[in-house]
Order: sequence, then structure tokens, then C-alpha cells
Amino acid sequence: MIEDKNQQRTSLSAMGEFGLIEHLTRNIEITQPTTIAGIGDDAAVLDFKDKKAVVSTDLLIEGVHFDLAYMPLKHLGYKAVVVNLSDICAMNARPTQITVSIAVSNRFPIEALDELYDGIKLAAKIYGVDIVGGDTTSSTKGMILSITAIGEAEENDIIYRKGAGTTDLLVVTGDVGSAYMGLQVLEREKQVFQVNPNNQPDLDAYSYLIERQLKPEARRDINDILKALEVQPTSMIDISDGLSSEIIHLCKNSGVGCNLYEEKIPVDPQLINTCEEFNIDITTVALNGGEDYELLFTIKMEDFEKIKGNPNFTIIGHMVQETEGMHLITRANTKIPLKARGWNALEAEQ
Ligand code: ADP
Ligand code: MG
Repeated sequence: MIEDKNQQRTSLSAMGEFGLIEHLTRNIEITQPTTIAGIGDDAAVLDFKDKKAVVSTDLLIEGVHFDLAYMPLKHLGYKAVVVNLSDICAMNARPTQITVSIAVSNRFPIEALDELYDGIKLAAKIYGVDIVGGDTTSSTKGMILSITAIGEAEENDIIYRKGAGTTDLLVVTGDVGSAYMGLQVLEREKQVFQVNPNNQPDLDAYSYLIERQLKPEARRDINDILKALEVQPTSMIDISDGLSSEIIHLCKNSGVGCNLYEEKIPVDPQLINTCEEFNIDITTVALNGGEDYELLFTIKMEDFEKIKGNPNFTIIGHMVQETEGMHLITRANTKIPLKARGWNALEAEQ
């Protein structure tokens, strides 16, 4: 996990910008029928015929969004792609292409960028998207990575944040909070490592949490599952900032309120054990953790029977009139206003 100082290091300046682009983008193949021209010209050419194109971009800054002390470069590349594909899936669209832009200082040898691109190419392969372009430039110190994802959808299939109705059910896929606790575990190990570099950590008890942090997956399977069940969600968003803040986005965009039930929020057993060990409240983590990349959506009440008991989905609440507000109904049956607190607020609390 920690950087191997004995690896071969080829300086970036030895290759030059064009040499570097050529090196990084070698062996990139085009598989999508919608890609007419990929890397190698001034712009890529795409053709979606009668479908709509869906586009989303993320910008990741070293030291702000990732820490290379415990984020291996291959994982960073993989995750950077996945978080963008997740945004496309949250529109109920199918990801088809990505572009990759990087700024690096000469602190990084070519071998490091190869590792980054191994992760990027792996994610592109697994999710079947074409890498059709990007930009490569230098930075004075840290690494900057920006990925743009493109997807396709039939116009009628696209799901916005704004469509939730006042009696709709609120549904989440998978479980939440684990990626945040994975980060807490990794940060603790980083500190232990700084004190005693020979310490070999035993992380078995946290394997799921760490995987959720280092190797998240986009829920591109959900669109097909919902289609097969003949359920068309009324609104949808992916969970990048935390369950609470995403629920608030759906409510505000749709002009509705919400009751969220604490006892319904799906969490993994490893999360429960680790929260106890770290003495952190499980619900606080589940609500505010972020980076789960699960999908959060609303469905009409009459679709309840179609998803009831399906292991992919948990009904965690229902929408209400906007005037009733947005609340968490606790296990003790008290009503607490939902707040949008990202990671910073969570960290300040500890
Ligand atoms: P331009 O000068 O028009 O910006 P570049 O020389 O930067 O062109 O890029 C040449 C080709 O390589 C373009 O197709 C561009 O999209 C692609 N490209 C550049 N950098 C990257 C990268 N980091 N990853 C993938 N493709 C890239
Ligand atoms: Mg360029």
C-alpha cells in the first residue's frame, strides 16, 4: 500500500509532452458504436443518433480529494473513472465514453502515471467505456485529475432530481457509510505507519470498508434491474456527499419534504463493529459519510410491490408536503430536521 521507494523511476522530462501522451494512450481501443473518432485528432467525434447524450465532469486535487499516502495510484485512476460513471448512472443513462485530463509535476515518474492509467484503463474496460481524449499538462507540485464521462439514454428514460412527488417512497441501493469509515481506518493506519514504518497492519476486520473507500463501483446494474421490474423512478441521484445531503437535493429540486426512518437505513455489519471501536455514532456516519456511490431514488407508492423484498433495494422513507419539512425519524420516534453536513462537519464533530 505504501510507496515502494525501490521502483524504477523514469523522469517525465525524458519523454516530453507528446511522447508522454503517446505512451499513456497506447493500446487504447474503441469498442462503442457511438464513438466515430477517439484519441489522435483535435477532438473526438461521437454519434448518438436518436438518443440523448449525458455529460458529467469531476475535478480531483491531490491533498483535497485524495491522499497518495494511502491511495495507490491505480486505485485513484479506477475511482476517478467510477465516480463519474456513477453520475451518468444516476441520470438512468448508460456510460459510453470518458476523457481524462491530468496535470502532474516532475515529482511523478512515468511509472507512477502508468499505474494511474492502469486503473483508468481497467475501469474503462470493466464498464465498457471508450477513452476518447483528454489533456496532459504540468503542475508545480500536486497532481490534478479531471475526468469527463459521457453516456446515452432514450429521452423518456432520463431521470432528474426534480421529479419526486409528495407521497413517493424513498429508496436506496446497497448500504451507506462504509466508504467514510474505510477512510477513517486508512487514516489511522497512516498515522501508525508514520510512528512505526515496520508495523504490518492487520486490516481483515475492515476489508469491506477499505474496499468501499479505495475501489468503489458505480451502480450501472440498477438501471437494468429497474427496467426489468418495470419501475420508472420519479427522481434519482447518486450518493457522493452523504445520504442526508442527497435527500435534501432531491427534496429541494422536487419541491417536497421527507420522512427518513433511522431504523431502515442499510448499513454493513463491519460498519457497525468499526463505529463501535472508533466510538462514532453509526447513524451520523450513515447520514453524512459520503462516497458510497449508491443510488438514491423515489418511486410511486403503487410500485411498492414491485421492489418489496428485492435485496438490491431498501425503502428508507417517504416524501411529504414541502411545508412539513425534511426529517429523520429516530429509533426513539423523535423527529430531527435533516441537515446537509459533508465530511468537514463530521470531522469537526469528533
Ligand atoms: P491539443 O493540442 O489539440 O490539445 P494534445 O496534443 O493535447 O492536443 O492531445 C492529442 C490527443 O491526445 C488528443 O486526441 C487528446 O484528446 C489526447 N490526449 C491528450 N492527453 C490525454 C490524456 N491524458 N489521456 C487521454 N487522451 C489524451
Ligand atoms: Mg491538449
